[in-house]
Amino acid sequence: MNKKVLVVAAHPDDEILGCGGTILKHISNGDDVRIIIMAEGLTSRNDMRDIEKYQHELNVLYKNTCQVAAFMGAKKVKQCNFPDNRMDSIALLDVIKPIEEYMGNFQPDTVYTHHAGDVNIDHMITHNAVITACRPLPGQSVHTLLFFETLSSTEWQMQTSDKVFLPNWYVDISNFFEKKIKALRFYESEMREYPHPRSYKGVEILAKSRGLIIGTEFAEAFSIGRIIR
Ligand SMILES: [Zn+2]
Repeated sequence: MNKKVLVVAAHPDDEILGCGGTILKHISNGDDVRIIIMAEGLTSRNDMRDIEKYQHELNVLYKNTCQVAAFMGAKKVKQCNFPDNRMDSIALLDVIKPIEEYMGNFQPDTVYTHHAGDVNIDHMITHNAVITACRPLPGQSVHTLLFFETLSSTEWQMQTSDKVFLPNWYVDISNFFEKKIKALRFYESEMREYPHPRSYKGVEILAKSRGLIIGTEFAEAFSIGRIIR
């Protein structure tokens, strides 16, 4: 049986940074992968949210997101267009609803989303919304819930905090790493120069260091939310 996989990411690029190689591995196995992007991106670069000012860039970013999903082989991508880095201005219930609605139709068995302890507020809220949408009520379709790390947010959390990322699930992405980097190139505007963590070299260093832990060239690491067998 092929899997039905849902990736819920806060921003355009998080889906690739967090689990791009794993998405590609799912698709190569014939799994049906769909992606939800919660926030619009970009508009937090101003003191006030000004959609008109960024309309052109937002259109380009939206196009990039669709192109990346098609390049990866994901069947569908949904954008919720919540305010970028201001998702705490929205009631959590209103963030949960579109996820629940999508899950109700798609009935995923496997869900990936952000780690709870990320510094980024949208990542935290997305995590909270997803775990609520995935609560194990009778008839819940999700049996595997995994949390990914996102460079320039997860590692920026204080490493003494109880919010620190503790991976306990690894995916060998050695055959998919090159394509993960190609996918990130669609999000060129979001990438930074090394030694910024959200740089191509930063992504490579993390994938290699995760690979070292499991004896492969490249890996992505996750923490297990819940697995039901
Ligand atoms: Zn993000």
